[in-house]
Amino acid sequence: MANTDGVKIHPAVDHGIKPGDPSFAGGVLTCHCATNPVKVRVGGQTAHNHVCGCTKCWKPDGAVFSQVAVVSRDAIEVLENGDKLEIVNADAPIQRHRCKECGVHMYGRIENKDHPFYGLDFVHTELSDENGWSAPEFAAFVSSTIESGVDPSRMDGIRSRLRELGLEPYDALSPPLMDAIATHIAKRSGALPA
Ligand SMILES: [Zn+2]
Ligand SMILES: [Zn+2]
Repeated sequence: MANTDGVKIHPAVDHGIKPGDPSFAGGVLTCHCATNPVKVRVGGQTAHNHVCGCTKCWKPDGAVFSQVAVVSRDAIEVLENGDKLEIVNADAPIQRHRCKECGVHMYGRIENKDHPFYGLDFVHTELSDENGWSAPEFAAFVSSTIESGVDPSRMDGIRSRLRELGLEPYDALSPPLMDAIATHIAKRSGALPA
């Protein structure tokens, strides 16, 4: 194993992973604005929480990974200061709604009904004070951290640290999620019965 001293992944996991609470029923996400913050209610427990190395997810200052989970889009409700929200890129498969002032992403939504993950919104549960959110389970798009400027020589240390934390590193999504995407595509193409 590579030396993992001082390797930082994300503040929510760097000191160990807090277990989720199966009876947890949701909470309120708040952006980083000191005044008039955007508040979004997540009315349910999240699933598939993970750390993500892609260049599109919102990351706290200095973090190499984001932490992101999914929840039913019906569970998302903008409570306060929704006029400060804007879509980062309306053409992207996931439309990330961010606060115009502080830049924090409040939720990501898929509007394409043919998308394998249509019906799920993406949220960063660290924006909530509540404890009990589903714990991160794996690391996605690990090699993509290089696209954000991480020197390739650091990757051994990063992957070793992820394994130490129990977050198996993948360079795409986890195998169950990649299988779900491929199954969706195969059913649409007729390669598998619908
Ligand atoms: Zn804000
Ligand atoms: Zn990502």
